[in-house]
Amino acid sequence: LSFDSFCLHPTICANIARIGYETPTPIQAEAIPHVADGRDIMGLAQTGTGKTAAFLLPIIHRLMTTKPEKRGVRALILAPTRELAEQIYRAGVDLGRGTRLRAAVIYGGVGMFPQVRALRQGLDIVVACPGRLLDHMNQGNVRFDALETLVLDEADHMFDMGFLPDLRRILAAVPEKRQTLLFSATMPAAIAGLAGETLTDPVTVRI
Ligand code: AMP
Repeated sequence: LSFDSFCLHPTICANIARIGYETPTPIQAEAIPHVADGRDIMGLAQTGTGKTAAFLLPIIHRLMTTKPEKRGVRALILAPTRELAEQIYRAGVDLGRGTRLRAAVIYGGVGMFPQVRALRQGLDIVVACPGRLLDHMNQGNVRFDALETLVLDEADHMFDMGFLPDLRRILAAVPEKRQTLLFSATMPAAIAGLAGETLTDPVTVRI
């Protein structure tokens, strides 16, 4: 299997070649067609498996090739730590080079103002940690009425870190009709419950 078989936008294919990925990892091979089809995903995968590109590639492809119904953030990726959020954001910048999609990363421990400025510019993709994102939502700095795809990455770690109440508040503020991708290395009851609440007819991808 090669990346060509996914028929991703040529700009994305060029980025994949420039970065040097030659063949899709197993989770990419399994997940990319389903994500590109708009399906919900329950992904049981550890870090190091290529899961970041497994969701970013088809998300970027869909954002490039479909017109939004409304103005606003179209994809939101939630991660438990700022390190992971930064890593996802940087992968997004690399894989999305030349696409004109606008992205920002949002986490706590740094000033609010540069983030407020970024949010006001108008963004297609937001990568965020739940706590700081909720601060911005409560201050009216960002809305998710136009959200098409929500990713919950390392959901088990978000649960361990006590983000479940924040996640529920964020979930209450995004459209019910959306695509949701949930990734978790483990499947404790709390995550199974969250999956049941947030995913619609999901495809399970296990690595
Ligand atoms: P992740 O599991 O998303 O944290 O990715 C782990 C590492 O694998 C990262 O350094 C990626 O850049 C790299 N990677 C992702 N997909 C591929 C691929 N298809 N071929 C080679 N390396 C990859």
